[in-house]
Amino acid sequence: MKWQGRRGSRNIEDRRGMRMGGGAGIGGFGLLAVLAIGYFLGIDVTPLLNGQMDGSGEIVQSDVPLTEADRQAGQFVSVTLADTEDVWADNFRQLGRTYQPATLVLFKQVTPSPCGNASGATGPFYCPIDKKVYLDTDFFTTMSQRMGAGGDFAAAYVVAHEVAHHVQDELGILEKVNSVRQRSSQAVSNDLSVRIELQADCFSGIWARQAAEKFGTIDRQDLLEAINAAKQIGDDTLMRNAGRIPTPEAFTHGTSQQRQRWLVRGMEAGQIEACDTFGTDQL
Ligand SMILES: [Zn+2]
Repeated sequence: MKWQGRRGSRNIEDRRGMRMGGGAGIGGFGLLAVLAIGYFLGIDVTPLLNGQMDGSGEIVQSDVPLTEADRQAGQFVSVTLADTEDVWADNFRQLGRTYQPATLVLFKQVTPSPCGNASGATGPFYCPIDKKVYLDTDFFTTMSQRMGAGGDFAAAYVVAHEVAHHVQDELGILEKVNSVRQRSSQAVSNDLSVRIELQADCFSGIWARQAAEKFGTIDRQDLLEAINAAKQIGDDTLMRNAGRIPTPEAFTHGTSQQRQRWLVRGMEAGQIEACDTFGTDQL
């Protein structure tokens, strides 16, 4: 993806100079909060946790110097976010609506959110309460080094996926589905979660397709990087890589095959109507 020297988004809230210190990892309470039904829409990194949680809680802030790599990552995210804003503004205009963009919070290590603390243990996520995406760009390193999902466009896909949750929020889909989830059994709730996530993947595909056409900055290799990333973050693959036997009833994001399928469907169709994951038996 060509991104150097391109326009970035204004909707970035950069908290990377500040750090919640005092050993504050994501405590037991924080984890419960972020896993609270419907309010946490992230990449499922729980199989990666392996005792990385620590329960201490005092928050102190200290200045953290940014490296050149941090600055580059921030610039990349900002350009990608701007590209999502342009593409979704077009799509909303066609629906006779105005797209209100999300804010993207860049942080290092830990930062508070109304959906619970964001940290390396949570992975990137969208919080519908404040309509913000939370992202520690170190997650891109985790993706390429620990999850086998490298490449700049794998990172762009993660940004696009979280923005897609905001699009679902703006379209009223999240609220509707979450109200049903709150009255449902765990099994039904997980099934609905999978449908939300696969739709976000499909929306990410729409974005990739339209951004490729609109800006000419995305090539075929980029699309393959995103499709590979979707495979690496499927529930079954994550569980298997963590040494667990995949248990379909515990899936909340969909299998590798499903995530790839819906991402590609979005890329091929380029239309919101193609992403109806709620009206099909065939995920
Ligand atoms: Zn998601």
